[in-house]
Amino acid sequence: MKLNRRDFIKISGATAAGVAVSGLGFDLSPVKSHAQILKTKYAKETTTICCYCAVGCGAIVHTSKRGDGRVINIEGDPDHVINRGSLCSKGASIKQLVENENRLTEPMYRAPYSDKWETVSWEWALGKIAKNVKETRDKGFTKKNAKGQVVNRVTNIASVGSAALDNEECWIYQALMRSLGLVYVEHQARI
Ligand code: SF4
Repeated sequence: MKLNRRDFIKISGATAAGVAVSGLGFDLSPVKSHAQILKTKYAKETTTICCYCAVGCGAIVHTSKRGDGRVINIEGDPDHVINRGSLCSKGASIKQLVENENRLTEPMYRAPYSDKWETVSWEWALGKIAKNVKETRDKGFTKKNAKGQVVNRVTNIASVGSAALDNEECWIYQALMRSLGLVYVEHQARI
């Protein structure tokens, strides 16, 4: 059964009206939500944290059980202590981060002084990133500070994590940055 938002509101309204009218006859049997039936029957639920800001609202991600694992819905987590099921307009749109035909699927490179982006292979892009990081880190690595204390830090590279990284991706990302010795590690949610 396909149900859009308008249909759902109509059915919910009709059901509520039915209960109100039959309230005179005291028909208080539990009311089933059609939307919930659809989600739990065909989807797996996973909890996550909205990636957009430091409020840290909880969300439930529904992924299809029909083999492709696609995200079919994301909504506020009613059990989450911060937002109790609500999401702002940004948070309500996070499904678009994964299901969006406008997403880039190949790495792009803009050469120094160029005004154009060009599509490059993943192999080339990862090699270029690794080479740049290695060269820069070797130049800026500090083993000991002015007092002779071991610090093993890198201060000539900074990192600003993407708005499209979720909680778990952020953890892995910062662990990698700190393993390189970076001390300037940020995420856009704190800016
Ligand atoms: S839903 Fe809105 S308020 Fe909540 S974390 Fe996301 S962006 Fe911030």
